[in-house]
Amino acid sequence: MVPFSRVWGDVVRGLCLRTAFCYALGMSHEFHVAPRGRLAPSPTGALHVGNARSFLIAWLSIRSRGGSLLLRMEDLDHPKVKPRAAEEALADLRWLGLDWDEGPDVGGPAGPYVQSARLAQYASALGRLQAAGCVYPCVCSRKDVEAGQAAPHADEEGLAYGGVCRHRFATYAAAAAALPAGRLPAWRFALADGAPAMAFEDGFHGWQHEQVADRVGDFVIARHAQGAGYMLAVVVDDAAMGITEVLRGDDLLPATHRQLRLYRALGLPPPRFIHVPLVVSTDGRRLAKRHGDTRIATLRQQGLRPSQVVGLLAEWCGWAAPGEEILPAALIARFRLEALPRVPVVLTETIQQRLHIRS
Ligand SMILES: [Zn+2]
Repeated sequence: MVPFSRVWGDVVRGLCLRTAFCYALGMSHEFHVAPRGRLAPSPTGALHVGNARSFLIAWLSIRSRGGSLLLRMEDLDHPKVKPRAAEEALADLRWLGLDWDEGPDVGGPAGPYVQSARLAQYASALGRLQAAGCVYPCVCSRKDVEAGQAAPHADEEGLAYGGVCRHRFATYAAAAAALPAGRLPAWRFALADGAPAMAFEDGFHGWQHEQVADRVGDFVIARHAQGAGYMLAVVVDDAAMGITEVLRGDDLLPATHRQLRLYRALGLPPPRFIHVPLVVSTDGRRLAKRHGDTRIATLRQQGLRPSQVVGLLAEWCGWAAPGEEILPAALIARFRLEALPRVPVVLTETIQQRLHIRS
């Protein structure tokens, strides 16, 4: 008979090896912990059918595996934050039948769940990157960056930066002194020279390769001395909140490479990323006001039932028949990420009529 202590020793060794193995490969902890996801609305506008579909998929992906979900309000983009939009986003999500185990309205051990209340954590992460020499102050305006571009390959998220300010200022104060009063230097993340191309396996789109240096160059992570931008804030929050799965719209797929560099620089284990196609209008563009009022709040006010709206979102995912009414809880058993179309979903006129959307 094998002594108990030896069996126990083997179990402990096995667990440690597995953890070390997953960590070494940059894999999430999902093999040995229940998945933990997040819904992260931004109060810069009302929730529309496109955002709602991504949130439904994120919710189902976690709930179908018995995991936990938290809601985090991403309200860092101050000038665009609209009053009451945060409360309305929560109300819209609840109306659709989605819930969360932790959040600004229900509390929880990983709070606060509002980004504007977490600034000290972002400042601390920025301090660690500064101490490690991973960031430098930059005084370039958007115009300067445009003028310095070698090739016009700017995307929506930023322009390729040539690294003008790298090694230019000894301190942040020196950089600030080079600017007129009222303007503050930003902090850029320095990509190591000749850093190899990064790759990661997206849970929906498969392997993604991108050379960050060619595409965006050293990227901005903080707009001024303390203030963190979206890129750093989500990395800090997802790690601090123990998130193992990030499921979001694939407009953020290119940003993931930059976030992975921040995870590495901060010594944090990255979550598993899943990027799903967006809902677009017939002109192929992201949903906007000119495509009609697709806000969840409006659909609710027009008298539609949650089951009608969720039915449509599920139909767009291949989980419900056309016109079927269903609620999120009943979709848990039908959840299959593979059923999702590989291309953006188009909001056609027929669907607009079904939702009584007027443009
Ligand atoms: Zn610069």
